[in-house]
Amino acid sequence: MPSQSQRKKTTKVYQCDSCEHVFYDYDSYSPLYECGECGTVFNRDNSFDGSGHNCPDCGKFGSRIDDVSCPECGEQCSELESWWECEECANPNADDSDQCSCGAAKAEE
Ligand SMILES: [Zn+2]
Ligand SMILES: [Zn+2]
Ligand SMILES: [Zn+2]
Repeated sequence: MPSQSQRKKTTKVYQCDSCEHVFYDYDSYSPLYECGECGTVFNRDNSFDGSGHNCPDCGKFGSRIDDVSCPECGEQCSELESWWECEECANPNADDSDQCSCGAAKAEE
């Protein structure tokens, strides 16, 4: 069995469905909302007032559809079952990539 980092037990890692950005759950505290009125999907950062859950288009309250949104583009994300942590920058990476976004190669177990 490969050794697993402490962090792996307590932390979730998500990958953006849109831009494929990989991040720890604590890097994104902005849930994703969907407006029941006009269907716009948005997170807190691009909400009506920038900090709530009112639709940026019509101002109605949106309902939460996910706990996290991509910190890069604000789109919906999926939790990664397996991933590895870069030894250089400590950022998570999807298991199918051999190189971190910082340029460091995946360390051999
Ligand atoms: Zn993204
Ligand atoms: Zn709306
Ligand atoms: Zn890295």
